[in-house]
Amino acid sequence: MVTLLLAGPAARPPERIVVVSIDALHPAALTPATMPNLARLARLGRVTLDGHSTSPPKTLIAHTAMLTGLTPAQSGKRDNGWEEGDPTVAFPTVLDDARAAGYRTAFFYSKEKLGYLVTKGVDVHALAPDDAIQRGRAFLAAPGLAFLVLHVSGLEQVGTESGWLTRPYLVRATEIDRELAPLVAELERRASYFLVITSDHGGHEREHGTEHPEDRRLPLVIRSDWTRLPDLQGRAYEITGLRAILAPVFIGDRR
Ligand SMILES: [Zn+2]
Repeated sequence: MVTLLLAGPAARPPERIVVVSIDALHPAALTPATMPNLARLARLGRVTLDGHSTSPPKTLIAHTAMLTGLTPAQSGKRDNGWEEGDPTVAFPTVLDDARAAGYRTAFFYSKEKLGYLVTKGVDVHALAPDDAIQRGRAFLAAPGLAFLVLHVSGLEQVGTESGWLTRPYLVRATEIDRELAPLVAELERRASYFLVITSDHGGHEREHGTEHPEDRRLPLVIRSDWTRLPDLQGRAYEITGLRAILAPVFIGDRR
């Protein structure tokens, strides 16, 4: 169970809140050698490598749980498919929470089926397999409170082709780490930010989405200058817990 540390002065809501979901990132890839940028964020911020995805741990099922805070049984989202024109999610998401708290919201994603998670609370959204990070940086450059969910893919494909945590997988992880560096640097240069980096699921050998424990594993990293940070160290984290972690961040001391 992840709880917030409530000690310290009252906090204003951060101007920039960003959730980056690196699809299929196994927590064992988050090392200084493979992902130096993310490893630095973990060292300076909060981290748990003991995160758990949904059952089954598949991309859309897991992201639905991540953004709604509901298990597949609670949300009814037990299948991993969605196409343009199908009904979208029937429950509010963390993007709706942000919008209600006065944030402009954006959701850039790299797989069409994540369009299932575009709700009324999303101001800007795009299927952006090639330039999600660039779109996110442009969105964050505008003034005002901003909340961004960024879905970055690439590891699931290389994991399926070559195997999780193999050399090609780790090379791709290093590329993603490098691609995210400018966005991270821009956030850190600006006071008042809250950055979450996580994933939807892990994998093992060339498999993912099964009940194998390595398939359910994921990391959670939080880097922020906010005064109240979740105490993650050594704690188990369920993918449904993100919305509860962010709820007090959106509100700050505006109570
Ligand atoms: Zn995935």
